Amino acid sequence: MSSSNLPVNLNKRESPLEMHADEFRKVGYQLVDQIAEFLDGLPHRSVTPDESPQKIRELLGTDRLPENGSPAGDLFNEVTDLLFNHSLFNGHPRFWGYITSSAAPIGALADFLASSVNPNVGAAKLSPIASEIEAQTIRWLADLIGYPRTCGGILVSGGNMANFIGFLAARKLKAPWNPDKQGLSVENKRPVVYVSKETHTWIDKAAELFGVGATSVRWIETNNKQQMDLEALEQQIVTDIAEEHLPFLVVGTAGTVGTGAIDPLPEIAAICKKYNLWFHVDGAYGAPAVVLPDASIQLKGLREADSIALDPHKWLYSPLEAGCTLVRNPNHLLETFSHHPVYYNFDGKDEDPSINYYEFGLQNSRGFRALKVWLGLRQVGREGYVQMIGDDIALSHHLFETIGTYPELQAVTQNLSITTFRFVPQDLTKTSLNVESYLNKLNEELLNRLQSSGEAFVSNALVEGKYLLRACIVNFRTTRYDVELLPQIVIRLGKEIDTKMRPVALQTL
Ligand SMILES: *Cc1c(COP(=O)(O)O)cnc(C)c1O
Repeated sequence: MSSSNLPVNLNKRESPLEMHADEFRKVGYQLVDQIAEFLDGLPHRSVTPDESPQKIRELLGTDRLPENGSPAGDLFNEVTDLLFNHSLFNGHPRFWGYITSSAAPIGALADFLASSVNPNVGAAKLSPIASEIEAQTIRWLADLIGYPRTCGGILVSGGNMANFIGFLAARKLKAPWNPDKQGLSVENKRPVVYVSKETHTWIDKAAELFGVGATSVRWIETNNKQQMDLEALEQQIVTDIAEEHLPFLVVGTAGTVGTGAIDPLPEIAAICKKYNLWFHVDGAYGAPAVVLPDASIQLKGLREADSIALDPHKWLYSPLEAGCTLVRNPNHLLETFSHHPVYYNFDGKDEDPSINYYEFGLQNSRGFRALKVWLGLRQVGREGYVQMIGDDIALSHHLFETIGTYPELQAVTQNLSITTFRFVPQDLTKTSLNVESYLNKLNEELLNRLQSSGEAFVSNALVEGKYLLRACIVNFRTTRYDVELLPQIVIRLGKEIDTKMRPVALQTL
């Protein structure tokens, strides 16, 4: 350990929050033992205890703010029980809901270390090593997906924030006036944004909150593979230009939230060039899949983007929260976000400039979320991610094929690591029911039953009016065994529900 000769008062101040080394060790070692056991035992647990908010609230006991303190050891005994026995576990091998990954254990240790040192990664002077680790993480993420490592970037809390940063850079750089000073409306012209109908809801928030307005979002039709229709896109741009609106941004998605579809990114890039529009790729889910040797040309098109959002807390398996924005021209983030108030003395030397992350995004004080991402990349390397992402996709294909072998199930889509399907009782067409509407109700109820069963967890998608079950495997703990179990669980629950639901549906016909 490096040590200085600086004066030290050996009589430490008695502060209620201080933990002396012996106590910290005792509580910490015990906690680490419990976490190790918890992680090891995850496959034996139910995915979720499915308790009501009311019951959970009762567990928390008195709702009064504590007047006095309690020993840390007692608190951890209590809180480990609360968390281990009353949580939904996205680290369980059969958790496939939404796009939420199992978390790499090294990330938990990284967060522990990061919080212990507690650098403020807003300014390099306050976080000398952490700021450089974040900068290196950003270069490595760019390397991982084949984006120029000279890009700018910043880690944020997740995909929404990462997309917001791209949106704001586009607004700043492509608006033909200065939105910082003049706001957005100039001579009744409207800045307009193009997204496909499958785009994640972040765009609703961005359009409403950043002054563009919801009616300026052009929701472009998708084809039968849930990809943006290029002709419809270009036609809408031409129409808007003719009506003297101000197109400035096209968002392409690399892995839609519903079915994992990848928009035709190279073609969208070409359209953006032609009309001088910012090309942003929402790769919150799918961007890391470009690391695979057999990645599609469509997906590789993300490398042409002006900005990319990706989510280490999805397919890089970082614990929540970790999102990332990459911007081709690093100056664009500074132009969008940088200010220099008099009370900050953060400017480095011209010959050795420092990176002050408060100038690259929305946050000022910032935590060290880069550490867990950086350590994950170092622990397994590019090869490790190629293996895990490739395995997730192979398991999703295996699920799709297994579903196809059951006459009671209908497999509908398979993209990246998302498979959608539904339960279809075999004798249904012989009834007088409106089949599609009954199937939607049946599968919705089935989803609710499955989610609360704790046996497995999937979410839902709506494709061409069909209510579907949707399994998204971003989970390095999932095995073929787990995947093969899912159709059996779904059929058992589906039959139970159909037996009760169908007579009622026939009666109310
Ligand atoms: C998950 C997701 C988002 C939102 O990301 P968060 O991390 O939940 O904020 C945005 N876009 C896509 C395509 C996503 O999959």
